[in-house]
Amino acid sequence: MRREAIERHRAHRGGKVLAVLPIHYPKPLLTAMNVLAVELWGPPGPPRGVQAGRIQPYICPVVRNALAFLSHGPMELVDGVLFTNTCDAIQGLATLLPDLGDWHKPVMRCWYPVGERRISAARFLETELQALADRLAQLTGSPLDLDRLAWALDLHRQIDALRADILDRRAHLDLSDRELYALLREGEYRWPEDHLERLRSLHQRLAELPVKKGLPVMITGLVPEPMGLFTALEEAGAFVAADDYAGIGRRIVRQPPPASTEPWTDLVEWIYHYPPCSTQGGDLARRLAHLEERYQQGGCVGLIIHATKFCEPEAFDFSAIRKSFSARQRPVLYLESELEVELSGQQVTRLEAFGEMIAQKQGAQPC
Ligand code: SF4
Repeated sequence: MRREAIERHRAHRGGKVLAVLPIHYPKPLLTAMNVLAVELWGPPGPPRGVQAGRIQPYICPVVRNALAFLSHGPMELVDGVLFTNTCDAIQGLATLLPDLGDWHKPVMRCWYPVGERRISAARFLETELQALADRLAQLTGSPLDLDRLAWALDLHRQIDALRADILDRRAHLDLSDRELYALLREGEYRWPEDHLERLRSLHQRLAELPVKKGLPVMITGLVPEPMGLFTALEEAGAFVAADDYAGIGRRIVRQPPPASTEPWTDLVEWIYHYPPCSTQGGDLARRLAHLEERYQQGGCVGLIIHATKFCEPEAFDFSAIRKSFSARQRPVLYLESELEVELSGQQVTRLEAFGEMIAQKQGAQPC
């Protein structure tokens, strides 16, 4: 499907394509410059090349697999790669890739300042974004048009509004979690206008009253892989009613700042309105309060911490999240995965046991 989206973008819009490492990057800027972002979350499964052996085995599978993939044939499809400063592992990969000798395409970087908003940090961010716009202009041959940036910001506001409403009214959608997440994850590679159309169709399917059967739970983690997790969860009698995946819920700006006449300022402020994320080094208390709000809003009866093995930024927050939820007598399941293609039998069993436990606590049998 990624290949189809890339070919469609080139044929219909004559645009360029960048492979983008997770998590946070200025997507409206890429959209404004007619650059399709195709995100690289691994991909899942065993590394697809020998270059994975060039990094330590205790580096997360997202980076290990990305290195193998980027050094491999399929990357001929893209025009360059964009690195973020999500974590030390991705920053390390950004320096390693150009040195491998078999990568000859543009390598771009966009570093977001970590921590809460400060005036100096906002200025730094705007400078970073403008430097990236200059690199993108070299790639596309056209400078940024500020009217296009304002248009792209509006487009992404519409996308976020629909994604937020669909997730908030999850119980009103008669769809399996696996199907829902497959649609939401199309945003990782589809052209935003095409993604918006698909979201509109999905949004029209929201029922007046809740239709989803099962016990509502919240899930937090990096990326919903393996997707078989959702099937196992539904078979255990539960569904995801509140999402805090870094790749999904943590990239939805729920209350965007009002648009001004300065698109650069709007882009900076839009970035500062993301929900709290472990990779942005913000205030942990603010993150816990945000999770609490999402948990209550979803009417959740349990929390699943879906950890990616060796992910440092997430590991720092998980213990605090676990402690905070356990202190409120809420069932918490800690499930670690490693970008496998499928869940192991043991992981499925743990999800089944979790489903039984929350059902008993609610005085009900799993549906
Ligand atoms: S899984 Fe964690 S350590 Fe790995 S790239 Fe993502 S944020 Fe970085």
